[in-house]
Amino acid sequence: MSTNLVEAEAVRTEQRKPRASIDLRSDTVTQPTAEMRRAMAEAEVADDVYGEDPTMNRLHERAAQIFQKEAAIFVPSGTMGNQVAIRCHTQHGQEIICEERAHFINLESATVAAFSGCQPRTIYGEDGVITWAQIKQKIAPPAYYRAQTGLIELENTGSLTGGTVFPQDVADEICDSAHEMGLPVHLDGARIFNAATAMGKPVAEIARKFDSVMFCLSKGLCAPVGSMLVGSKAFIDRARVFRKAMGGGMRQSGVLGAAGLIALEKMPARLQEDHDNARLLAEGLAEIRGIKIDAKKVRTNILVFSIVGTGMDTAEFSRKLGDKKVLAAGIDHEQMRFVTHNDVSREDCGKVLEVVRGICV
Ligand SMILES: *Cc1c(COP(=O)(O)O)cnc(C)c1O
Repeated sequence: MSTNLVEAEAVRTEQRKPRASIDLRSDTVTQPTAEMRRAMAEAEVADDVYGEDPTMNRLHERAAQIFQKEAAIFVPSGTMGNQVAIRCHTQHGQEIICEERAHFINLESATVAAFSGCQPRTIYGEDGVITWAQIKQKIAPPAYYRAQTGLIELENTGSLTGGTVFPQDVADEICDSAHEMGLPVHLDGARIFNAATAMGKPVAEIARKFDSVMFCLSKGLCAPVGSMLVGSKAFIDRARVFRKAMGGGMRQSGVLGAAGLIALEKMPARLQEDHDNARLLAEGLAEIRGIKIDAKKVRTNILVFSIVGTGMDTAEFSRKLGDKKVLAAGIDHEQMRFVTHNDVSREDCGKVLEVVRGICV
């Protein structure tokens, strides 16, 4: 047995390609850990559409426990998690109130229209933070010709806003006030463990007042595939129906669940390292001519910075980084995004700053 594991480890190491670049495009690029690969190989599995996969059932139970919600369900992607939740909460012809840079309306095709038949009603919020005072004004009056508000959606951390943390008191007020009007609130918590690390709070506390939360096991937590939805038992029962309808009912998915369990139990503890690296990058970038970033605002693993002063657009900037084996992308013509993760070391960050200095002369 131990010989087999040693042999297996050797094969794994051989099969891994040497890393060609420092990849800051997203934390979605993270490799599963050796422990995950081993757990996947050894996972006990059965048909999860029949609800019989023991590894999947364990993952569902643990996620519900950690988030202190009644139930949880695995979904193949964060996109499916958000869209299944939205389909559960809304009816066709309704509106969803959200910040204008929300992931679910910008980076998930037009699923909210195609699958849920809803339209977004957007608000701009400084650093992605929208308040109840802003939301209240966007809730449709009860006129038959006005699309009625069906859902409010928040994001923590904010992906396109630079990994921003949504303040708990602002979120709590939104949830309480929405619930008084009978409106559900969904949290896109793709990176809720990064938020929890930055806020020094357990995820359960962040999630407490939300009707549903989606979070990713992939990304910073390094699972190869998968996200989860948590909420009430009735909500998760409904989510299982729409997950199946979207093609997300999978059979021996415990192979993925085994990696997910390790992501959930072991990986959150190391996220501070990514946040420290992001801050280090931000402080270095702030010193470089032509780049604008407020390093103090970088609290998690994502940094968004303006390169207008360099005279380059983000396509040119990204190309020049790529020539030096640093991968990154712009979120528009003027703003670049860097994301730190398990496969970017402190030393890598030093190299990245050197490369950026070199192209900004
Ligand atoms: C990545 C992400 C998603 C979607 O996750 P996928 O697994 O890529 O579909 C949703 N919301 C936010 C905020 C994200 O960052």
